[in-house]
Amino acid sequence: MEARERTGLVLDIHRCSLHDGPGIRTTVFLKGCPLNCAWCHNPESISFQRELYFIPERCTACGACVAACRNGVHHLDPATGEHAIDRASCTACGACVRTCPAEALEIKGREMSVEEVMEPVLKDRRYYDRSGGGVTLSGGEPMAQFEFTAELLAAARENEIHTCLETCGHAPAERFDAILEVVDLFLFDVKGLDPDRHKANTGVTTDLILSNLDRILKRGGHVRLRCPLVPGRNDSDEDLRRLADLYRRYADALEGMEIMPYHAMGEAKGARVGRPVPPLKAETASEEQKTRWTAWLREAGCPV
Ligand code: SF4
Ligand code: SF4
Repeated sequence: MEARERTGLVLDIHRCSLHDGPGIRTTVFLKGCPLNCAWCHNPESISFQRELYFIPERCTACGACVAACRNGVHHLDPATGEHAIDRASCTACGACVRTCPAEALEIKGREMSVEEVMEPVLKDRRYYDRSGGGVTLSGGEPMAQFEFTAELLAAARENEIHTCLETCGHAPAERFDAILEVVDLFLFDVKGLDPDRHKANTGVTTDLILSNLDRILKRGGHVRLRCPLVPGRNDSDEDLRRLADLYRRYADALEGMEIMPYHAMGEAKGARVGRPVPPLKAETASEEQKTRWTAWLREAGCPV
């Protein structure tokens, strides 16, 4: 197989993004993630499979999807109009999506080749050139579709397009070694530094993540830390102190640090792909909380 024919599962491609690295960027969201963060704001990116996405607010209970599906996935209660979905029987064929007049159904995830992804990426080259932007691979977790990610990065490099890779850091170390030369900037997530709470919040401990961060920096990789802060989950003074310690340990090598205040939008999206609402019970971060976090970290010497 030619490298450019390699395919991967893509959730979405956003052009003209301003928040995923420097300048104006095209962000490619790959589907599938080895973590299961309690606060995930993109729950439709967690599964490595294509999946049915149902927006109940749009459903008019017309019944077209019931008739279209050969697998008996959709059920409408004749009395209440309540719409139940038997996801275990769904093959994500898309037949019901095409018949829904209310645009209440979508299939999340599309198998795309490197060439197909690069087509929209290359269209915005003039914006990248003017703004210092480029392409960002995000997710899900791009390192979990490693061969595809490596080919995308190589294609961007061949076309002299700046590359960012947003990663949770939880992947075999050799994979980071292999792409170090074709990543201009890692946007490296730090979701907390208490190993036990990190495991409770994300499903994995911090060991591999922190050793990969250390390894990338020692090998000359360019890294900006990205720290999601979730009220009551990872924003205590002790959590902030540990973050500041981490930043100071690598301050000479790091290229900045950002905080990413929690927003509760993920809960509704999780239900749309049939994921149970996470038992997070956190509110969207308030302005007061953001101000406290920023002031605390700045006081401790972090450039947030
Ligand atoms: S995607 Fe296909 S299998 Fe799944 S509910 Fe729709 S028609 Fe049925
Ligand atoms: S086709 Fe669309 S609007 Fe009609 S019942 Fe199915 S999901 Fe609802």
